Amino acid sequence: LGGDEFAILLESLTHPEEAALVAQKVVKALSHPIVLHGKEITVTCSVGISLFPDHGKTCDLLLSNADLAMYAAKHGGKNRALMFSEDMNLAMKDWAHFECDLALAVQRGELVVHFQPRVEMGNRHIKSVEALVRWQHPQEGLILPERFIPLAEEAGLIGCIGEWVLGEACRQIKELDRSGQQLGVSVNVSPLQLCDAGFADRVASILHEAQFPASRLEIELTEQVLIRRDPVTLASLERLKAMGVHLAIDDFGTGYSSLGYLRHFPIDTVKIDQSFIRDLVADPTAAAIVNAVVALGQQLNLRIVAEGVEGVDQERYLIDQGCLDAQGHLFCAALPVAELSEMLRRIKATKPGAGHSSKASALH
Ligand code: C2E
Ligand code: MG
Ligand code: MG
Repeated sequence: LGGDEFAILLESLTHPEEAALVAQKVVKALSHPIVLHGKEITVTCSVGISLFPDHGKTCDLLLSNADLAMYAAKHGGKNRALMFSEDMNLAMKDWAHFECDLALAVQRGELVVHFQPRVEMGNRHIKSVEALVRWQHPQEGLILPERFIPLAEEAGLIGCIGEWVLGEACRQIKELDRSGQQLGVSVNVSPLQLCDAGFADRVASILHEAQFPASRLEIELTEQVLIRRDPVTLASLERLKAMGVHLAIDDFGTGYSSLGYLRHFPIDTVKIDQSFIRDLVADPTAAAIVNAVVALGQQLNLRIVAEGVEGVDQERYLIDQGCLDAQGHLFCAALPVAELSEMLRRIKATKPGAGHSSKASALH
C-alpha cells in the first residue's frame, strides 16, 4: 500500500480469531533478525485487522479501519496485532486533538526548557548543562518529552520545536554569563532535523542571534542517525563540526552499537545509556559493557559521560573505571533556568572564587 505498508486479504474466514491468528504468525515471522550485508537487522511490525461486514461494507471503510487499528497497535508498543474497535475512533480523535494542541504549543508559549547539570564526579564541578524540553499543557499539566517528541516527529512539527529549543537554550544559558558563569549547553536533536539540508545554516544563525559561541554548544544525536549514513546528515554534521560545535552520541549502547561509525563521524562525546548505569552494580554484563565503553573512549580520545547516575555506589564504580563526567539525580535533576541560576549563585557564595564549581551538598 505504501513504502512499508502491506495488506493481506483473507477470504472465507469462519471465525474472527482466524484473522488474529494469521496476523500473529506474520508478526512472529518478521521478528526473526535478517542478515543484510553481514549485519543483523531487526524489524518491528504492527498489524491492524478489520472484518467484513462488521467493520465496514466498503473497501475504503475496511481499509481505513484496518489502518486505524494498525496505528493503535503501533502506539501501544509495536510488534503486535490489534482488531479494529469503535473506541479506536474516539482515541484517534483525542490523538488528533493532542496533535493540534502541540502545533499551537510553541505559539502559545507552552513549551519550556529545563536544564540538567553535567558534573565532574569526585569534585562535582558543573561543566555544562543539557537542555530538556517540557510541555506545560493547560489541562494536562507538565508533559515529558517522551510523550510528545514522537508525536512531533510524526506530525512534521519537530523541526520547528527543535529549533525553538535550540534558540531558547542558547539564549537562556547566555543570560547566565552575566553572573559570571560561562556554561556549555547540550541540545538533543532528532534524526529528522539532521537530514534537512538547511539545518547547519539555521544553527549558525541561531548562534549568531543569541551571541552564543559555537564551542559552547553540543548537539546530542542518537545512534540511529549514524547507522543510516545519510549523506545529507553527514554533511550537516561536518558543517557543524567545522563551525566548532561539539557532537555527542546519546543513549549509547541501546541502538545497533556498531563501533565502526566512531571512525567515520566527527564525534567528541559518548553518553552511556542510563539502563547500563542502573544495572551497573548488580549485573556483571552491564558493568562489562560500561568498562569497555570507558576504555574505548580513552583510546579514541572521546569524552565519556554516564547518564542517570542515582547512587554513590554507581558514582564510585565509574570513577574507579576512569569515567569522570556524569548526569543524574544523585547530583541534580533538570531545573528551570531560574532555579539553575539560583543554585549556581549559592555554589559561588559557599565557594568564593570557585567559578561554577561546587561541593556535592551545594548541588542538591
Ligand atoms: P536524554 O537526552 O537521554 O535525556 C536524559 C533523560 O533522563 C531526561 O529525561 C532526564 O530528565 C532523565 N534523567 C536524568 N538523570 C536521571 C536519573 O538519575 N534517573 C532517571 N531515572 N532519569 C534521569 P526527559 O527530560 O524526560 O527526556 C527524555 C528524552 O526526551 C531525552 O533523553 C531526549 O531523548 C528527549 N528529548 C528531550 N528534550 C528534547 C528536545 O528538545 N528535542 C528532542 N529531539 N528530544 C528531546
Ligand atoms: Mg540527551
Ligand atoms: Mg540519553
